[in-house]
Amino acid sequence: MNKSTDIIVVGGGGSGLALLYALHLQGILKDRQVLLIEAEEKNQNDRTWCFWTDESDAAWQMFSPCVSKVWSKAEGPFEGQQSMAPYQYVQIRSKDYYNFINQALENYPKFERYRGRVKKVSENDLHQVELEDGAKFSSEYVFDSRPPRLAFEDLIWQSFVGYRIKTKQRIADIHSCRLMDFEVPQEKGLQFMYWLPTSEQEALIEFTRFGKEVLSEAYSQALIEDYLKGLGIEDWEIVEKEIDKIPMTKGLSASSRYYSQDEFHIAIGARAGAIKASSGFAFKYFVEHAWKIALALKKQKPIPSLYHPQRFQIYDELLMRLITEKESLIKGIFERLFKRHPLPRIFRFLDEESRFDEEFQIMYSMPWLPFFWSIKESLVDRFKKIFGT
Ligand SMILES: Cc1cc2nc3c(=O)[nH]c(=O)nc-3n(C[C@H](O)[C@H](O)[C@H](O)COP(=O)(O)OP(=O)(O)OC[C@H]3O[C@@H](n4cnc5c(N)ncnc54)[C@H](O)[C@@H]3O)c2cc1C
Repeated sequence: MNKSTDIIVVGGGGSGLALLYALHLQGILKDRQVLLIEAEEKNQNDRTWCFWTDESDAAWQMFSPCVSKVWSKAEGPFEGQQSMAPYQYVQIRSKDYYNFINQALENYPKFERYRGRVKKVSENDLHQVELEDGAKFSSEYVFDSRPPRLAFEDLIWQSFVGYRIKTKQRIADIHSCRLMDFEVPQEKGLQFMYWLPTSEQEALIEFTRFGKEVLSEAYSQALIEDYLKGLGIEDWEIVEKEIDKIPMTKGLSASSRYYSQDEFHIAIGARAGAIKASSGFAFKYFVEHAWKIALALKKQKPIPSLYHPQRFQIYDELLMRLITEKESLIKGIFERLFKRHPLPRIFRFLDEESRFDEEFQIMYSMPWLPFFWSIKESLVDRFKKIFGT
């Protein structure tokens, strides 16, 4: 088989489907031949996306119908409960997201799917996409979300063991979630718990580590049990598990252009650097990128790359170095961040949307010695790269 089409999307996961939905909203699927190549069936809830949103971002505007739970207040490494206004913390189950987008794509005669695993994308007059089963497709544009290779020195993992639990005991406050509760044992990195009640009888509890070594389920389960006891919940059962890991590295950052791409073969999703190095959040970045790509296609402008502004890459680098090399201090540093700044300011900073004076306030409130040490180490690294010593 050797078929030619206008646009190929490789991978129908988070970013591939976000792009297809953006093409649908822009009316592009009516006119152009679009092919989605996906290796898996994708009919399971293989992940749950959570993120904060102030409803102005593309993620909310495009995918609010898939949101299954909204929390307006949060507890965390600060006193009492905080309102997150103008933000809310929201949850999207991937199964709902896949169904929602697949329904929107159903009635386009020019949209096709192919189930198979892409082996290679190469460039001739058009881009050639070769699959493991021998099929070949060519097209003007290829949007590629195959998982990235991860050979980076600074690579650490955000590993997590999450349980969706059901309990007979009533969960008291279902409008408030707990974000990054560091009051758990600290070992081999930075560890914390998320508590996300979804109804009076159900919640998602997730134990997370930022570190080189990945969490085991046995170790995490014992800590989850203790944590639930602390919340007064003793009678519970697991209805779903989410055990996985997300790479955290500045190596994939879009500005370093890790993957060779040209203006017609464009990386999207994790491959494009959507995963923010210091937090592991990606959803809002790849949705925003998808929207910008669809707009560019509509207006016949050059396709934009996913981009993290330079200064935020530097902040990420400083934080990553502290996480990996100052294990004994990092919990205190994060607690200080949350105690001294309101959540909306921290969210803006993590979204790379803060103003420079807010970033200055955040940096100024950090413990000076470790921060200067991290800056010094970054400068030494840069000199080494330049002078090759
Ligand atoms: C369990 C989990 C939970 C997460 N939770 C959050 C969260 O709460 N908030 C957040 O912001 N981020 C989260 N992330 C990070 C990030 O949002 C996700 O990893 C997101 O799915 C990345 O989108 P993607 O399109 O790059 O990759 P994917 O969604 O993994 O999509 C890639 C697709 O490509 C297909 N594929 C792979 N290789 C080939 C090939 N050779 N040929 C054809 N198809 C191929 C795969 O089957 C897959 O469907 C989470 C990640 C995981 C793993």
